[in-house]
Amino acid sequence: MNLSRKQLLKAMAGAGAAAVVGPLPANASGSRVIERDVCVLGGGASGSYAAVRLRDLGRSVVLVERKDRLGGHTETFHDPVSGGTADIGVVAWYDFPVVRDLFGRFDVPLRTPPAAVGTIRFADFRTGQVVDNYLMPPVGRMAEYAEVLEQYPYLDDGMDLPDPVPHELLAPFRDVMVKHGLSDMAPFLALHSQGRGDLFDQPAIYMMKYLNLPSVRATLTGTALTTSRRDNSELYEKITTHLGGDVLLDARLTAVQRDGAGVRVQAGTPQGPRTIRARKLVVTVPPLLGNLAPFDLDSTERAVFSRWRPGGYYTSVLRLPGVPQVPIQNISADTARFHMPSMPGIYILAPTGIPDIFIAYYGSAQPLPDAHVRADIVAALDRLQNTGVIPATRPRFEMFSSHAPFLISVSARDIANGFYRRLNALQGHNSTFYSGAAFHTNDSTLLWRFTERLLPRI
Ligand SMILES: Cc1cc2nc3c(=O)[nH]c(=O)nc-3n(C[C@H](O)[C@H](O)[C@H](O)COP(=O)(O)OP(=O)(O)OC[C@H]3O[C@@H](n4cnc5c(N)ncnc54)[C@H](O)[C@@H]3O)c2cc1C
Repeated sequence: MNLSRKQLLKAMAGAGAAAVVGPLPANASGSRVIERDVCVLGGGASGSYAAVRLRDLGRSVVLVERKDRLGGHTETFHDPVSGGTADIGVVAWYDFPVVRDLFGRFDVPLRTPPAAVGTIRFADFRTGQVVDNYLMPPVGRMAEYAEVLEQYPYLDDGMDLPDPVPHELLAPFRDVMVKHGLSDMAPFLALHSQGRGDLFDQPAIYMMKYLNLPSVRATLTGTALTTSRRDNSELYEKITTHLGGDVLLDARLTAVQRDGAGVRVQAGTPQGPRTIRARKLVVTVPPLLGNLAPFDLDSTERAVFSRWRPGGYYTSVLRLPGVPQVPIQNISADTARFHMPSMPGIYILAPTGIPDIFIAYYGSAQPLPDAHVRADIVAALDRLQNTGVIPATRPRFEMFSSHAPFLISVSARDIANGFYRRLNALQGHNSTFYSGAAFHTNDSTLLWRFTERLLPRI
């Protein structure tokens, strides 16, 4: 039998549970029982890291993931034509010890990202017209933005905010740009902070946590890191192998019951129903009410989790025969809007270095149906062809990935009223701990550091 790399990992993960611990005992309802110190929900950056490190610290763990792979927003396209690869989700990390240690132990070599392909062009994707009245500011201008961030060092560590929360962090990010003379950098900042269409209208804190000081410093000094083999998913494949039978892939949560003494998690898996009994639960999935429907949420938890507003973010791998490998950024010709592009829409059509292969990054203030996003991308490409920005081509989707819900946030008013104080107070409540983007920001390096600091409490 000739198994693909992915099939092999899946077989090792789910079926391995029995192989590693021996035949699992079944409870009265026929569900196999798994007993562990800690059950981790969600196998993206935070959950995979938590499971690996908890095992290092001598805890028995089980990691429960809804998809058929670990990695979450980290995804890699393998081109069947050229054999080339392109990372279409998480691309880079900072040169922090937590990153070096993690990639080093799994023997995944790192390097600084290769220089961008081609000189960037600007077009308004609503009309398909070239925008020639915008000049990209030099990267060095980011130093001015870094000076603003330096006033708020606590933003790099979770959501431990002062009370009262500084007014500047609650104002729309647009106001912060104007106040600090950065508005000419708007499209540049937008390019580096994709994932939420209306980011500039949102409370500045989200933008300042997402496009944070470590990321600005990495850009200014050219010290960001990516994988040498252009395959960021390799890390998660190796973690899947490392965790073996302690990973349940393709798992559907059916009930989660918790109290001060421990937790009971029930899930359907391709190998049949499983009941996990654990002393602690670590939740790293987006904590939206819909996602937590199987949970026995109490009124305190429900009051907090009902406040979230999710955004939408989508990546597509497009085959565009005959289109030169040059990035085209979507910006508005409208100087009154600081050239900010209208959303929902494509942020950028990015070359990959693989002939004919591009990534379209698409953002929206709220999740949209996948079919709508795909149709909108095709319509934008049509407009770019009609105006001659790109040559006539026959677009083909090689891959489409929804990252929604992305960048889940609350209103400035909720933040001012102590939302994050109430959220942080849930750590440990009902034997449950939390990591993941909602508790910090969408940034793997900072989430690994945040998770590491949480471990002693679990
Ligand atoms: C296109 C794109 C590019 C990015 N680029 C970068 C980058 O270059 N560098 C960087 O640091 N960050 C980047 N990010 C940000 C990224 O969000 C974070 O780095 C990180 O992936 C967030 O980790 P997480 O653990 O919070 O969430 P995720 O990685 O989303 O993990 C959550 C996991 O939970 C699973 N899950 C959800 N619901 C359930 C459920 N009910 N039951 C079980 N499992 C469930 C999901 O399938 C997923 O695997 C990028 C994001 C996107 C979308």
